[in-house]
Amino acid sequence: MKYKEHKIVEVEPGSIAEELEIEAGDTLLWINEENIQDVFDYRYLMADEAIDICIRKQNGEEWVIEIDKEYGEDLGLVFETSLMDDLIRCRNKCKFCFIDQLPPNMRETVYFKDDDWRMSFLNGNYITLTNMSQADINRLIKYRLSPLNVSIHATDPEVRKALLSNRHAGKILEQLKVLVDAGIEINGQIVLCKGLNDGDVLDQTVRDLSQFIPHILSLTVVPVGISKFREGLAELEGFDEESARVVVEVVEKWQKFYLERMGTRFIFAADEFYITGKKPLLTYDEYENFPVLDNGVGMLTKFKWELEKELEKIESSEESFELSLVTGCITKGYMEECVALVNKKLPNYKIHVYPVVNHFFGENITVTGLLTGQDIISTLKQDIPLGKVLCFAENMLKSGEPVLLDDYTVEQISKELDIPIEVLPNEGNEWVQKIIELKEKY
Ligand code: SF4
Repeated sequence: MKYKEHKIVEVEPGSIAEELEIEAGDTLLWINEENIQDVFDYRYLMADEAIDICIRKQNGEEWVIEIDKEYGEDLGLVFETSLMDDLIRCRNKCKFCFIDQLPPNMRETVYFKDDDWRMSFLNGNYITLTNMSQADINRLIKYRLSPLNVSIHATDPEVRKALLSNRHAGKILEQLKVLVDAGIEINGQIVLCKGLNDGDVLDQTVRDLSQFIPHILSLTVVPVGISKFREGLAELEGFDEESARVVVEVVEKWQKFYLERMGTRFIFAADEFYITGKKPLLTYDEYENFPVLDNGVGMLTKFKWELEKELEKIESSEESFELSLVTGCITKGYMEECVALVNKKLPNYKIHVYPVVNHFFGENITVTGLLTGQDIISTLKQDIPLGKVLCFAENMLKSGEPVLLDDYTVEQISKELDIPIEVLPNEGNEWVQKIIELKEKY
């Protein structure tokens, strides 16, 4: 049998693998003579207390090693990618796809469109189910991988096919039923596009999905992102104050309905709808433990709640300090409210909030997480007070690296603006602590 080969790039110090003299550069060929397709096979096969593995050393020797270990104990092998396989390509051409709207000349990898169910578990990605084979579904069920994040968008078959530009996209209700019947839980997402899947279509989608509650844990409605690079693409319109307010009201209607019948609000609108529609965000308790925080739902309420709790704990102080924050245009007012709360306890902290217009993707993109180095530099390079330190939000950086979306490093921006830069955490309590620590540092 031909086994899929997995190159080992690192062996964790003190691990079982190190003890067995497995080295970076060696190759894993099989576990218990079973082929390893990806990390899910690997984890499953590796979990047992007694396993045999086959390693090909760099000199070509093949070692078969018997291992006795604790159940679930890791071997300490690190592979080239966390998936241990190539990503599955997307087969859709969604009208709202943000990858189609990226500027030219970004790094090649950002243009790759994946729609890989495994990344839902590894990375929290939402997947459309349009390219899952029966074998994929069998594996997902076999490994009891749950919850799965699904981009539903619309349950009406024709609307979904048109939205995804995929004639195979119309069977979402049947597909969800198979998964739910097999015990898989789902988080659903709707990318809302004005005139395409809002209004009656949205109502029907929510109504259709109710049959799967409580196996569908939540349904998130997020607004379509529209960059300035839409030449040759379908015409789409963003949400203004009036249309965003309508979306919040529709979501609130359904929340009331489900809360009375099922004890959960079930459907949540992204924070952007509330801010754009000038509607008050839900309270901390109303977000029901924040089931879909990663999808931009409830982040602002959670942050402010944590910030207020932390401020209650600290002593008032007359100490003075000056610093600056950059923010997306949409959260300017919200950040100013947070600063006003800080100033009740620390009245001599001068905290400048600078909204940065997004010229890189276009002015319609107003969230903080999509800001780029070049826009920050051009905004702040004018003669404006910055204080002792400039602060970025954690979600402006690419997966924790000190690099922004346009590949500007934090260090480069700091040099250009001639000011130290600090990254503030996403949790409100840690944010307050960091602001106080910065006073000591600078
Ligand atoms: S599923 Fe749609 S939005 Fe996602 S990458 Fe494919 S085309 Fe783009």
